[in-house]
Amino acid sequence: MQQQYFVDVILPIPVEKLFTYSISEREFGFIKPGMRIAVPFGKSKIYTALAYKLHRNPPQVYEAKEIHQILDETPVVTEQQLQLWFWMASYYMCAPGEVFRAAVPGVLLLESETIVFKNEKFREAEITLKDDEWLVYEALQHQPILKVTEIAAILDKKNVLPVLKRLLEKDVIRVKEEIHEQYRPKLVRFIRVAPAYDSEEALRELLDTLNRAPKQREVLLSLFSLSAGTIKPVKLKDLQEKTGASPAVINSLLEKEILEDYHIQTDRVGYSGKPVSDTKELNEFQTKALGGIREHFRARDVTLLYGITSSGKTEIYVKLMEEVLARGQQVLYLLPEIALTSQLIYRLQNYFGEKVSVYHSKYSNNERVEVWNNMLQGSSRTQIVLGARSSVFLPFSDLGLIIVDEEHEASFKQFDPAPRYHARDVAVVLGRFHEAKILLGSATPSVESSYNAKAGKYGLVGLKRRYGNVLLPEMELVDIKDKRKKKRMKGHFSDRLIEEIEASLAEGEQVILFQNRRGYAPVMECNTCGHSPQCPSCDVSLTYHQTRKQLRCHYCGYHMALPLSCVACGSSELDTRGFGTEQVEEELKSLFPEARTGRMDSDTTRGKYGYEKIITAFEQQETDILVGTQMLTKGLDFRNVSLVGIMNADSLLNYPDFRAFERSFQLILQVAGRAGRTEKRGRVIIQTYNPYHQILQQASMNRYGDMLTDQLNDRKQFRYPPFYRLIKISFRHKNYNTVREGAEWYTGALRNYFSTANWKREYILGPESPAVGRIRNRYIKDVLIKIPPGQNLKAVKEGIGRIHKSFSAIALYRSIRVAFDVDTY
Ligand code: ADP
Ligand code: ZN
Ligand code: ZN
Repeated sequence: MQQQYFVDVILPIPVEKLFTYSISEREFGFIKPGMRIAVPFGKSKIYTALAYKLHRNPPQVYEAKEIHQILDETPVVTEQQLQLWFWMASYYMCAPGEVFRAAVPGVLLLESETIVFKNEKFREAEITLKDDEWLVYEALQHQPILKVTEIAAILDKKNVLPVLKRLLEKDVIRVKEEIHEQYRPKLVRFIRVAPAYDSEEALRELLDTLNRAPKQREVLLSLFSLSAGTIKPVKLKDLQEKTGASPAVINSLLEKEILEDYHIQTDRVGYSGKPVSDTKELNEFQTKALGGIREHFRARDVTLLYGITSSGKTEIYVKLMEEVLARGQQVLYLLPEIALTSQLIYRLQNYFGEKVSVYHSKYSNNERVEVWNNMLQGSSRTQIVLGARSSVFLPFSDLGLIIVDEEHEASFKQFDPAPRYHARDVAVVLGRFHEAKILLGSATPSVESSYNAKAGKYGLVGLKRRYGNVLLPEMELVDIKDKRKKKRMKGHFSDRLIEEIEASLAEGEQVILFQNRRGYAPVMECNTCGHSPQCPSCDVSLTYHQTRKQLRCHYCGYHMALPLSCVACGSSELDTRGFGTEQVEEELKSLFPEARTGRMDSDTTRGKYGYEKIITAFEQQETDILVGTQMLTKGLDFRNVSLVGIMNADSLLNYPDFRAFERSFQLILQVAGRAGRTEKRGRVIIQTYNPYHQILQQASMNRYGDMLTDQLNDRKQFRYPPFYRLIKISFRHKNYNTVREGAEWYTGALRNYFSTANWKREYILGPESPAVGRIRNRYIKDVLIKIPPGQNLKAVKEGIGRIHKSFSAIALYRSIRVAFDVDTY
């Protein structure tokens, strides 16, 4: 009998099992786990699969197909990554292929549906193309975008992935990215003397003519002294600070074309080979905290650093990173997406120069793949990776330390699609695979992490003083119910808030206003019949956006023009209920017509630099008042902010979620932490209808310990984490009755299966329709399983797995989509 050789591959699709393909003896000798292989699948699909295991056993139930081609010479995925991915698939109850798809940048995953277009920057003259490459290139001259399947037709062969791979490497083509960045807007604003005055002669002449404009002359001289002895660019902000010159003086120099301004994209080119500055010397509290962390690390893998906002946590991380780098190991610095600001990137590049790479979902495919490849090649550029949650998937080789900053942040959790993982928890597992240490940092640690520290599982280190002994801001609760009664409200602003804004503006200080809803008003309502327009595909009211004169669905993106009259009764008396950031900004403009306002929410921050633009303007004090959603809360260090206003704290508390109180506490303290970062004490005004609400009281007095005790009591009593573990199973279908029946069948089976003595009926909740019971025309039912302490999680999952198999075998229910969410949020 003929020799037979096989490879098991991971396909990037939600199938439970690996697939076996047949290969030649030569291929058998060549392929290593972690290499990509183009394979045919189904009737006519092509996928990029990942080699996992080589063996000699033919599959039992099907005839193994042959592979198309091997795409790599060396593995692009390491064994440790594969180990982590399989752990994730099993822990989070999803397919290895789903982890594979989430883990690698799209460029590495060419498949029949991938869309290809040409790279506009490519110049023919620069590179010679092979015949097949040329054919693709030419086709793209006539058709701007092509699917991989179409390219297969053009080349008249099935297997085109190797050609595309070569074209990608030569930078001739691009594959479709989620984000199209049409422009590179200004980022940090720098300033220099115009080239016309490069010669000494021209300069002397210029200074002479400026004798009649002493202020302008002074600015110019200051600029010289700032740039003396360094080739570092000078920030406009620094010049303003040094001279105290008004923007008008600098503007007139710009208008006369004596100075010119330019912008640098700080996150990518911040470091340009110039000397790196020394790290800061820690103060006594930081030194003590650092000692404490080292101490814990001797006995434990994980330590929690509970340090209030602006206590100098980052500088402590920096010291730990230095040590790891000195040992030649890598550091992963995880942050929630919105906290990954160029401020922080700049700061780290200043210390570590070229050793810092950034990995961010808003970066293009090419930028991400660059980081990935650098890591595979062991480049020193990736010794420190600063990244959002998906950077846990990168090919680390020798990880020494993982920092999870803002560890309490809910955005570390991926909701959709699978794997529905929590990056902090995955980081702990990743760290253990590498025998690395894990430091969790937060000013408001999650109840879970604090509990783990209490229980002795994690080390705990506290840092209770702001750096430089700056005081925490003073917080004031303002009863807006009472203010309304006494007619002391203007729109959504109480007299207290208005007074404080006025005072800050008068001092030339900046203000942040926080409102947790974007848009103008959440709901539009008819005064006559009470109808409010709903999304046709989701069970939610549409949100009113005034600037665009639209009603929009925040779940599916559906939008319609603002109706002039009620669609139900025809009355033209339409009114709004609730309010969002847009409305706050509008009211501000009429209350403070002189002030320059800005708004930061997901409507104004689309695109890669949308966010940076707004931050930069605020940082450079081109904006006086910034209104925003919780995007404002993270990692921003604005020196000049003296006042933070929370427009309506009640909207935080009223979420139907067991974490709502914890989250409100965290959010309030995080936004408050943006105020008063210099000697002058900052102020926080919290407007609410419930000034005596326990959480608001605790937040306003910064009583984290009390909050923790209360929340732990509640969680224990109502059977929630960290005492019970949760698995949510969601069912979706376009037919309501189908999903209801299916979910009921499933739940019944679960109750039957888990009817042992240790389990109580209350441990399985549902099926229930969630708060939004229909999204994109799919009806939803949720079942929640609460797993009591002491139960073996693995056994529970196996039980669910068994029920799931029987469920999938029922023809009636086969079209129901079932999603598992382990440790649901
Ligand atoms: P956190 O991360 O706890 O919010 P940061 O590390 O950002 O705090 O520190 C707050 C501010 O204090 C920053 O501007 C930082 O540069 C400054 N700072 C912190 N530690 C030191 C230090 N040891 N020496 C000088 N400045 C420091
Ligand atoms: Zn009506
Ligand atoms: Zn919708």
